[in-house]
Amino acid sequence: MYDVQRERVTKTNKPFSDADKLRRRANQQLAQQQPSVSGIEMDAKKLLHELRVHQIELEMQNEELLIAQTEVEASLERYTELYDMAPVGYLTLDCFGAIQQINLRAARQLGIFRSQLKQQRFSSFISVDSLPIFNDFLSGVFVGRTAQSCELTLLPVDRSPTLIVQFEAIANDDDQTCRVILIDITERKGNEEKLKLASLVYQAIGEAIMVADADNRIVTVNPAFMELTGYTLQEAVGQSTTLLKSGHENEAFYQIMWHALKTTGHWQGEIWNRRKNGEIYLEWLTINTVYDDQSKVRHRVATFSDITDQKHAEQTIWQQANFDSLTGLPNRHMFYERLEQEMKKSRRMGLPLALLFLDLDHFKDVNDTLGHGKGDLLLKEMAQRLLNCVRNTDTVARLGGDEFTIILAELHEQDSIERIAQDILWQLTKPFELAGEIAYVSVSIGITLYPEDTDNIDALIKNADQAMYAAKDQGRNCRHYFTLSMQEAALTRRRLINDLRHALAERQFYLAYQPIVELKTGFIRKAEALIRWQHPSRGLISPADFIPVAEATGMIIDIGEWVFREAAQQAAQWRRKHHEQFQISINKSPVQFQKEDNGHLAWFEYLRELGLPGESVVIEITEGLLMDAGALITGQLLAFRDAGIQVSLDDFGTGYSSLSYLKKFDIDYLKIDQSFTRNLAPNASDLVLCEAIIVMAHKLGIKVIAEGIETQEQCDLLIAAGCDYGQGYLFSRPVAADEFEKLLLAG
Ligand code: C2E
Ligand code: MG
Ligand code: MG
Repeated sequence: MYDVQRERVTKTNKPFSDADKLRRRANQQLAQQQPSVSGIEMDAKKLLHELRVHQIELEMQNEELLIAQTEVEASLERYTELYDMAPVGYLTLDCFGAIQQINLRAARQLGIFRSQLKQQRFSSFISVDSLPIFNDFLSGVFVGRTAQSCELTLLPVDRSPTLIVQFEAIANDDDQTCRVILIDITERKGNEEKLKLASLVYQAIGEAIMVADADNRIVTVNPAFMELTGYTLQEAVGQSTTLLKSGHENEAFYQIMWHALKTTGHWQGEIWNRRKNGEIYLEWLTINTVYDDQSKVRHRVATFSDITDQKHAEQTIWQQANFDSLTGLPNRHMFYERLEQEMKKSRRMGLPLALLFLDLDHFKDVNDTLGHGKGDLLLKEMAQRLLNCVRNTDTVARLGGDEFTIILAELHEQDSIERIAQDILWQLTKPFELAGEIAYVSVSIGITLYPEDTDNIDALIKNADQAMYAAKDQGRNCRHYFTLSMQEAALTRRRLINDLRHALAERQFYLAYQPIVELKTGFIRKAEALIRWQHPSRGLISPADFIPVAEATGMIIDIGEWVFREAAQQAAQWRRKHHEQFQISINKSPVQFQKEDNGHLAWFEYLRELGLPGESVVIEITEGLLMDAGALITGQLLAFRDAGIQVSLDDFGTGYSSLSYLKKFDIDYLKIDQSFTRNLAPNASDLVLCEAIIVMAHKLGIKVIAEGIETQEQCDLLIAAGCDYGQGYLFSRPVAADEFEKLLLAG
């Protein structure tokens, strides 16, 4: 029976049903269970029945109450669970801000266990900055009686990061407490901050930004866009992205761009676009795509900047790096690149090419006499003339100074090289008109062929250079083809350089002395120190062969130093032993003068150490040195004079033979070059020249030494012409010191 009832009760979901219904149901149940009876028995039974009905009613009521209670408890539990587990914090504060009740979420937000929180003041979790806000807020809640809200920064006790919360409260009816909701808005705030920053960047960034929708309609642009393109936001928004199209890019360009955008979502590159005012400009454009959740294009974002100026600057830099600013011709760098290309082409086509090296003859004289401005004009004119001599496909380059190169490519017939070379020589003999001044120049041309002479680019350049020097040696104003013997000469020179590096340390040098004779008396008064190189395998090498190499490599500095010390020691010895006024002449290369280290002061010091006066040595210099003499050289020459060291001008007559130098630089001796002495004969023009030189020199207080006297006749003519000193094989060849001493002793 109970089971039936229970089932029924459970079926009725209502907690309380009215008594009648219950009674009816109880009656029905009893009726079904018992057969009928009669009389008094009936009354008692009826009463009993009533009582049982009542009992069942009570039991059922009790049952329903129990169910209701369980349900209330369950819902309370559910409520508590909801309260505790709610994604927002709930708490109850009293009017002093003490925590009365708190859900789990809020406790966690404050970083503490709920059990520890009761009666704690909420303000202890608030950052200093937020405290005044909280205090004001709390009093406001109890006055206002409506829900209020503020933002607070909380400092959780467990040192987890600060929390920004939205704090919403409403006072309870008791006026003593308020209900509070705490919503963690830290992340939202952070996002807002980021958004604000992004928007700031968007507004402030120097790069133009254009956002378009999937249909390529402009959605928005930033201020930099407006500045760059001239379109306002209103003008741009809603327009097609082709708004800026300049028409300077072809269809293929856009096809490639769109292909990249559709496949990768990204494209970047240079593009010519048009501003609102019609101006065309070059921009560096980057386009990125923003997709939606279904991977469909939502937006395209284009960022760009105007690189027109940058491009111009790059172009200028490129121009400067590859072209000579004076003549506009390709420079050394560009020449090398072109030569490389042309060599490749030549290989491909099976056609030879020729490389020409050109160097103006005596260009320095033009610079020196007419000034650098006119020199520049000449180089420009020369460039023009060279260009006129070659085909458009050939390259004329300027390597620097007065050095030019020409690449004659794709030579169908080798005759054309000769024709062009001759034409160049001819064109350059014509006078150059340089702003009112007329100048004449000539050029030396070296020619080499690819692949005939070499298939290596550096060797090819070297060949042409060597051939050019051969042309110079041949007397200038001519062309010279590269030959194998020139290469051999170059090889020898390289070996010489190598050997020269060790020569000093290995004591392979010695000094030979050649007497300088006082012609009037025949006495040996002076000697010229002439260096000799005793090469271990090649034998004696002439200074004419190795001094130029020593000069070109700078080794002359150390060698010259050694010569000076060696000669000075010898002078000291012979002054002691032979004649107290004995002098030794020492050749000093122009390269030695170029070194700005006061080396000459060390020489003076060395003479002092040896107890020698300045006049015990004479420095022999060449005219070339005086031609270029700047302050550096003049200063050194004057220092020599002040130290009592005399100066002799060597090889006079081979260079400019300018007498004005003699006066200006206080020259003591003049050495007439042996090429004059050689040709001395009665009535010969060289004799007249020698006589004139001697007369003039004497007028300037300069003594004259004649070099290269080989015959008695030459000697007599010179004596008759009044020459002071003589030097030459007639008296003696240059000899080693001990042999020289024998000459001295013999008188
Ligand atoms: P230089 O200073 O003009 O020297 C004179 C040259 O003429 C010497 O040649 C000498 O041997 C040569 N000579 C002398 N008398 C006669 C003669 O009668 N007939 C002929 N045919 N030649 C004669 P060398 O010794 O071969 O020197 C050549 C050049 O090398 C010198 O010309 C000088 O410019 C340079 N040189 C020699 N020694 C030194 C040095 O220690 N330092 C520097 N910087 N240059 C030096
Ligand atoms: Mg000399
Ligand atoms: Mg000489």
